[in-house]
Amino acid sequence: MDQSGKLIIFSAPSGAGKTTIVHHLLSKFPDLAFSISATTREPRGDEQDGKDYYFISQKEFLHRIAQKEFVEFEEVYSGTFYGTLRAEIDRIWADGKHVIFDIDVVGGLHLKRKYDGKALAIFVQPPSLEVLIDRLSGRGTDSEAKLQERYAKAEKELAYAPQFDVILKNYDLDVACEEAKTLVSGFINPKF
Ligand code: ADP
Ligand code: 5GP
Repeated sequence: MDQSGKLIIFSAPSGAGKTTIVHHLLSKFPDLAFSISATTREPRGDEQDGKDYYFISQKEFLHRIAQKEFVEFEEVYSGTFYGTLRAEIDRIWADGKHVIFDIDVVGGLHLKRKYDGKALAIFVQPPSLEVLIDRLSGRGTDSEAKLQERYAKAEKELAYAPQFDVILKNYDLDVACEEAKTLVSGFINPKF
């Protein structure tokens, strides 16, 4: 699918629900595949290397930057890097699938610009900053220090919403998943 492979980008502050929505879409659309990012953070909960992320050391991450292996990367949190490997997109397209991303807002906009015309960039919007904070702490996967870092970043990230192709409200999860399915279906199978 090298010529016709597309990119579907989900971005939002941490806790908005993008991972939940992306997993739902992956269970519904067999021709989508998740872009596994590289990160220097430690695995959380039952996350697995090579499934949720490629968990690599900072030394290896910096080496891969020098080798120009990333299409985009960010120091999303202080001292913690995340990035999309060019080889990951190529692998998925070579497998005949479209790529779906769960990525921070800056990285999401970067990919949207880089793959203009082939990308749909969706911003997942929580009902409010307060609800976002509740969801993040309710997830129960982050230490207090990590939570504080994520809250501090969230307000700035919400301001990026208008730069995306679509703002998807995640108030009621079932409604958001249905809307996400309609958006993705229309994008990968256009009627005209
Ligand atoms: P992100 O990937 O954006 O960081 P997650 O998908 O991990 O967010 O969701 C954060 C938490 O909020 C999870 O515990 C998830 O189950 C919950 N959640 C997601 N969407 C909703 C929703 N619409 N209503 C209530 N809880 C939600
Ligand atoms: P988490 O640690 O909660 O898995 O992710 C933290 C943030 O990093 C989230 O906003 C997530 O979407 C983002 N992220 C994950 N992978 C990438 C990536 O490859 N590039 C960028 N720029 N951000 C990423």
